Amino acid sequence: MEKRKVLNFLPYMIVVVFLLTLFNLNGAGASKNISYDELQKVLKSEKVNESVITVGSNVVEVKGSYVNDKKVTVLFSSKIPSTEAQVDEIISLLDGAKVSVVDANASNIWFDLLGSILPFLIISGFVVFMFNRMGGAGGNNKAFEFAKSKARLEGNIKVKFDDVAGADEEKQEMAEIIDYLKSPKKFAKMGARIPKGILMVGPPGTGKTLLAKAVAGEADVPFYSISGSDFVEMFVGVGASRVRDMFKKAQQTAPCMIFIDEIDAVGRQRGAGFGGGHDEREQTLNQMLVEMDGIGDNNGIVVIAATNRPDVLDPALLRPGRFDRQITVSLPDRKGRKEILQVHARNKFLSNDVDLDAIAKRTPGFSGADLENVLNEAAILAVREKSNVITLANLDEAIDRVMMGPAKKSRKYDEKTKKLVAYHEAGHAIIGLFLEDSTIVQKVTIIPRGMAGGYNLMTPKDEKMMNTKKDLVSSITGFMGGRCAEEMFFEDITTGAVNDIERATNIARDMVTLYGMSDLGPIKYDSGNQSVFLGRDYNSPTNVSGQIAYEIDQEIRKIIDGCYKHAREILEEHREELIKIAESLIEYETLTSEQIDRLVKGESIEGDFAGKVVETSSIDA
Ligand code: ADP
Ligand code: ZN
Repeated sequence: MEKRKVLNFLPYMIVVVFLLTLFNLNGAGASKNISYDELQKVLKSEKVNESVITVGSNVVEVKGSYVNDKKVTVLFSSKIPSTEAQVDEIISLLDGAKVSVVDANASNIWFDLLGSILPFLIISGFVVFMFNRMGGAGGNNKAFEFAKSKARLEGNIKVKFDDVAGADEEKQEMAEIIDYLKSPKKFAKMGARIPKGILMVGPPGTGKTLLAKAVAGEADVPFYSISGSDFVEMFVGVGASRVRDMFKKAQQTAPCMIFIDEIDAVGRQRGAGFGGGHDEREQTLNQMLVEMDGIGDNNGIVVIAATNRPDVLDPALLRPGRFDRQITVSLPDRKGRKEILQVHARNKFLSNDVDLDAIAKRTPGFSGADLENVLNEAAILAVREKSNVITLANLDEAIDRVMMGPAKKSRKYDEKTKKLVAYHEAGHAIIGLFLEDSTIVQKVTIIPRGMAGGYNLMTPKDEKMMNTKKDLVSSITGFMGGRCAEEMFFEDITTGAVNDIERATNIARDMVTLYGMSDLGPIKYDSGNQSVFLGRDYNSPTNVSGQIAYEIDQEIRKIIDGCYKHAREILEEHREELIKIAESLIEYETLTSEQIDRLVKGESIEGDFAGKVVETSSIDA
């Protein structure tokens, strides 16, 4: 730091020194330049008390001062031709004053020297200055800090375990790490070796960073956080020196915690992938391994790394003594979601009709970050409505927004498209209602959102770890429902089913190639299309021959065809209900599960909407 400050000021210092030098050469203060005649006059009439005569080869410079009749000191200087007679004359006139004679050539040596190094000094100062200014990517990456780690140090962390909802097992795993960070010596005494590296694996937004921070917060130790991509630079060796620097800094503040987010950015399998830039990544990774080994046992440094791709990590990273403990952080279950919602609702005002458990039930697959986002969106909507509590309707809209993006109420539907979308969505809903399986239709709407024309919110009755073949077949059947309905009621079909078809095909392919749920038997068929960009080998082997590839396609087709037929049967059987739902959708645009139930039972739902103005303004009549 100190060195940098000095360097920062260098150009200014040079300028100042330069100016001072000029000043000195010209004599101090504002001396008055006078002609030879005047000089003679001054010397004759005034009592000069001090004078310096600089004798050069061509001119002699006379400088001096006297006190005038107003008791003010006057400085003067004058240049006269360097002839002996004149110099003698001046000296005689200066009789009585303190006179010093200086050889101009002597001072010239000093001046010449300065003259020769000054340009050099100025140029190098300028270069340094420019480097500082340019700063490189990120703005604060100064020329001389290039190799410094970018780890952000946070002391005094306020996040505590209470702020992390659910994740009980994960917290338990971390409990001893906290104990260790609090008093590393205790463990050393017992001869226990605490893991130096912990790898947290889980999808984005599941609270990996939060958990790591909470550990640092509970143990009250400094928290260094850095992202794996911060190590990756254009120049070979920079990443490695950043790693070195980070560990050096950490060592000075031990006990402490280093958190490396997205470690897969540096920790990918060496020698995998293709294209340039290997050397840099490999050096960085090697340095990381060296540093991990270099942290002595029980030194008080714990490194936590997070990734959602543990499969692409270099095995060397996972060896004992490095990241040898893995903690899987998974998407929260219903109970976890409720707790997360509760944590984030602590500082918000919810209206009485809001039941967080019901919200948790409606949001399977949401991560902690998504849930936080839902509450935040709801709060924003409440503010927008100038209400002082968050209502159920706000939360409802917020869930839809997080899932599909904001409603596009202004997007214009013509009457025919609206009808098509309504029948398409009603088709999905009927399958969800009448197919023997475990999904619940929560909500059907034909208000477009994001890329979707309309959508069905279906949730599983209960969340389970695994899906049965029957579950998968039913979901494919559900996806087929939309297209089937279009075919039944219109001569033409639409592009609206693109997403349904894609998802159905993916499920069917996985059933055949991964889960062994087809006549091809329980064999994993690598399709060989794992992305090389994600650290896999370029020519990853495939065990699929042309013949098998053909058979896989046959099996996929068989599954989809079967589901399609089944969907069609269900829709034909419940044709009347379908029409009812579709027509109600055209009328009211959004139906809840409870309203759909009543419609199917033959009850009227008109009462629900009585008095409410259904927004039809956005629809072209
Ligand atoms: P990751 O590092 O896994 O991508 P983060 O830790 O950055 O995820 O989580 C993002 C945000 O999601 C957190 O700041 C927090 O608000 C919220 N969050 C995630 N999981 C939880 C949880 N278990 N409890 C409370 N909030 C959570
Ligand atoms: Zn659809």
